[in-house]
Amino acid sequence: SMPRQFFVGGNFKMNPVTQEQKRTLVKVLNEATIDPAVEVVIAPPALYIFPLKDILRKDIKVAAQNCYFKLSGAFTGEISPSQLVDAEIPYVILGHSERRTLFHESSDLVAQKTRAALDAGLSIILCVGETLEEREAGKTAEIVESQLKPVVGVLKEADWRFVPAEYGFSDSFTKYHVPPCSKIVIAYEPVWAIGTGKVATSAQAQQAHADIRSFLSTAVSAAVAENTRIIYGGSVNAGNCKELGNQKDVDGFLVGGASLKPEFVDIINAKK
Ligand code: PEP
Repeated sequence: SMPRQFFVGGNFKMNPVTQEQKRTLVKVLNEATIDPAVEVVIAPPALYIFPLKDILRKDIKVAAQNCYFKLSGAFTGEISPSQLVDAEIPYVILGHSERRTLFHESSDLVAQKTRAALDAGLSIILCVGETLEEREAGKTAEIVESQLKPVVGVLKEADWRFVPAEYGFSDSFTKYHVPPCSKIVIAYEPVWAIGTGKVATSAQAQQAHADIRSFLSTAVSAAVAENTRIIYGGSVNAGNCKELGNQKDVDGFLVGGASLKPEFVDIINAKK
């Protein structure tokens, strides 16, 4: 099977506030030496994706932080997956813990959004993760599985007929649809580690990632489990990224706070 490409996402959340601050961030990224082996995606607030995309180096992609599951209509304040595709925004973050908690998004809603986004042609950064209370009750794997279960159908129902040989499903097609396992990146983000400065230990991250991979293997297929990137999020910084990034099942990061700082470049280059 193909090696999984290291992935680093920057989630700007509702920051920074001025256009000038955003241009400064882009300038840092544009002038940085970035490991060409890494897939890098930044998710500015929706309002600013366009102006930033125009000045951003072309080897860094952009993402929306959310979208709806309908393609158009009377849904005031929402953004549709097909609008993102039309605007040439290739990625969307779905199921971030702030969406689940503050905006009451259920795992079923997140799965509906995931299906709509995949159908429209978007790639997805799908976030899952347990609270501190759930971890302390020994429920981490159970909670993460419950968040992933509604998405299993989306992965299973996909059209596998034109999948390239590298994915192990077929050996004879030259024209193919990109398989969903390459379109969905799973971000394991323990809620207690997001924005708290309390990073998971590399052993905790590795265990959770291995559990997710094993769940995918059982619930979907061994090939999907093997090919799906599982990235870690929660207080990643320049100091802790190397050890986390060297774990066997950690295929990259989703970075909040530190993605607004020059150290984001060090996190992108964690494997160098
Ligand atoms: C996030 O918002 O996805 C995140 C991981 O935030 P932070 O890096 O600030 O913990």
